[in-house]
Amino acid sequence: MNLFIGNGLIVDAEYSSPVPAGIVIADGIITEVIFNHEKKEQSILTEPDKTDKRNIYGEREADIFIDAGGKWIVPGLIDLHVHLRDPGFEYKEDIYSGCAAAARGGFTTVCCMPNTSPVIDSPEIVRMIDKKARGGNGVQILCIGAITKKQEGNELADYEEMLSLQTISAEMTGRGICGISEDGMSVKDEGVMLAAMRKAKELGLTVYSHAEPEAAIVERDIKLAEQTGCRLHFCHISQKRSIELIREAKKNGSNVTAETAPHYFTLDSSQVNGDPNKKMNPPLRNKEDVEAVIAGLKDGTLDVISTDHAPHHEREKSLSFADAPNGVVGLETSFQLGYTRLVKTGILTPLALINKMSTKPAEILGTERGRIQVGQAADLAIIDVEKQYVISPSDFLSKGKNSPFIGMNVYGSIEYTIIGGKIVWKNTKSDQE
Ligand SMILES: [Zn+2]
Repeated sequence: MNLFIGNGLIVDAEYSSPVPAGIVIADGIITEVIFNHEKKEQSILTEPDKTDKRNIYGEREADIFIDAGGKWIVPGLIDLHVHLRDPGFEYKEDIYSGCAAAARGGFTTVCCMPNTSPVIDSPEIVRMIDKKARGGNGVQILCIGAITKKQEGNELADYEEMLSLQTISAEMTGRGICGISEDGMSVKDEGVMLAAMRKAKELGLTVYSHAEPEAAIVERDIKLAEQTGCRLHFCHISQKRSIELIREAKKNGSNVTAETAPHYFTLDSSQVNGDPNKKMNPPLRNKEDVEAVIAGLKDGTLDVISTDHAPHHEREKSLSFADAPNGVVGLETSFQLGYTRLVKTGILTPLALINKMSTKPAEILGTERGRIQVGQAADLAIIDVEKQYVISPSDFLSKGKNSPFIGMNVYGSIEYTIIGGKIVWKNTKSDQE
């Protein structure tokens, strides 16, 4: 099947600025990128011919023609950090609802954290998730295995067995799991973390560190990474001090990367007001930390924006602040917050935002996705950045409605999400307008 997206504005690392172009997709692969300036016709962007799909770009036939109408075409977003709650907590989220939320948010690949029940610490659980993911809407789920068995912090999990599985992760990255993490908690015992990093280095696995207390564990794990040569990625960085440590480590040539999440550059602790939907771990920080997060995003110390999508049931989040569990949903609002808070304000360029939400995560995973390139799988999102709306949990496809951004005005509607040339999300609301 052929798909033809015309009149778009490609935002991709390949080009220094957004470029008006069309994309031809055949059998799931990008076969051509056609720049509008190469056309004899006058600007296609300003005068799209919606009626004849052939005469815009010459004699090219397609089964499906999408008129992007000047909207952004970006490489499918990649989230290195989500909690899909499956197996064990399917009342909060399951693989199908998580994939639906991901597609609605423009994500084509997500990496799921191992704090499920049972924990992702064995080939059986990885196989089970992979099988379910293959029966889903097409969003590519890559498992992150636990560092220690049952996440108990003692005995290392069997990484080799999980690595050797023929999973979606293996097809994309050559590894059955895409990394290891104890997310939700830190590996407290330094000796255990050192042993895990040694093993990870030997196997070429990235370690995703949940640092708590943040700065102290960031400091410890940078030291261990330098000692072992292991690839280290810091999850959900939120504090000024840890950003300074990571900036310093990068200056010294350390092989570390780091992510933050939209809530850490959008909200601060003064806005919590006892709202359980604003309770997460790490918690919202003070204004100085928020400024440091933004500065870290701007200067590249923070490489990636992940969501730490952590759905909970409404009944859990209607408990008192003290009793409610940590975590907020994020898949369906991440691009919008990045665009509204960082790009519209001039802090990041469009390219820098897409780099942090797709290209860089792909690099960390070791996959060719995250770029719009001829010969590559067509994982794409088409985004109307002009469209403004108010975030409402009634629109969410995630089972989790626990967003800290409810009622916020944002820009950026995901019009299409395409995975391997297949449309997995289409905003039908736009058709009705
Ligand atoms: Zn997490």
